[in-house]
Amino acid sequence: MSALFDRYAQQLAERAAQDLIRVRRVAASPTAPRQVIDGVEKLLFCSNDYLGLADHPELIAALQEGAARWGVGSGASHLISGHSQAHEALEAQLARWARDCIPDARALTLCTGYMANLALLTGLGDREDAELFSERLNHASLIDGARLARARKSIYADLDQLEGQLRASTAPTKLIVTDAVFSMDGHLAPLRELLALAERFDALLLVDDAHGFGVLGPHGHGSLAHSGLRSERLVWMGTLGKAAGVAGAFIAAHPTLIEWLLQTSRPTIFTTASPPALAHALVTSLALIEGEEGERRRDQLDLLRAQLVDGLAPIAAARGWQLPRSDTPIQPLIVGENAAALALSARLDAQGLRVPAIRPPTVPAGTARLRITLCADHEAQEIDDLLAALVAST
Ligand code: PMP
Repeated sequence: MSALFDRYAQQLAERAAQDLIRVRRVAASPTAPRQVIDGVEKLLFCSNDYLGLADHPELIAALQEGAARWGVGSGASHLISGHSQAHEALEAQLARWARDCIPDARALTLCTGYMANLALLTGLGDREDAELFSERLNHASLIDGARLARARKSIYADLDQLEGQLRASTAPTKLIVTDAVFSMDGHLAPLRELLALAERFDALLLVDDAHGFGVLGPHGHGSLAHSGLRSERLVWMGTLGKAAGVAGAFIAAHPTLIEWLLQTSRPTIFTTASPPALAHALVTSLALIEGEEGERRRDQLDLLRAQLVDGLAPIAAARGWQLPRSDTPIQPLIVGENAAALALSARLDAQGLRVPAIRPPTVPAGTARLRITLCADHEAQEIDDLLAALVAST
């Protein structure tokens, strides 16, 4: 019997030897930016709750109201009996946002962003006549979706390589797939140039806006609006558990593509619909994001980001760490080796600051890093505390 487990145990030991073991910490309080972990309050620089909405009183009240009205479970998949007026209302709002950039867009909600990307790539790419062109830094869920799809796959590192691949392709259905904001780096994809290539080579452009939705663009409407794009070739995916503060995801696109996904895409068909109460709360979240409160929170994030980058620049230069340019509240500090990143993260942790070390396979070998994320509820003094802790931590 034990031999059955030995192989796994041995591989776990190998991971441990490479400083690749990850640990779950048990929180005893809500998220960002302060959280009680193991009985101690830590200041988080690792949550994706960028706007600080996850414990916003209006959203808590909306979720309670939603549960009182709809109960706590949907009971079935969307196509059976799980699709409610609450889901419809949320999809209508998201479609309205999407129409900034995609004429006549329709939206579809899903339980998680991971599933949305599986749905998107298997739904649109599971055809032998299709070719997927996927950016090298794309999120794991896009990579896994591409693995599941029957389409041919090409990975590109830059626009020139993509152009060559598109020119060489004979596939009638071409799908360019990119994160809008690269989740471990914080910079924006060249969306305008990608759309120009999509137009030139008659491709669709699929954009995962997990980290731009709510944060970038006029009224927080996301990366496509931020980049001023408009085309029916755009397919916009976003997550609702990050800046929107709740859970779930959506895909918005031309109505024909959405109907196709609804009819054929297995991750939307064969799963229980998310609780309608979440959709109910999300309608309130969208209103907060587009309203004055969202503007104020985005302005605050901009101030905090400028303060962080100004403070980090001399520290990174003195230590030989890399500080890549970021367009968002995600700021990586690339340390290099796994052990060094872990040690730095542990020293910050000892001072009450949670900044996890991100290691391979999430990022390429030799680029282990601290991924610092900001929340609109951080205070200027707390950024100074992080900077001071980094200075003291060598
Ligand atoms: N895409 C990107 C770029 C992400 O960063 C994430 C979450 N880490 C996802 C998709 C998956 O979203 P979710 O957490 O809602 O499953």
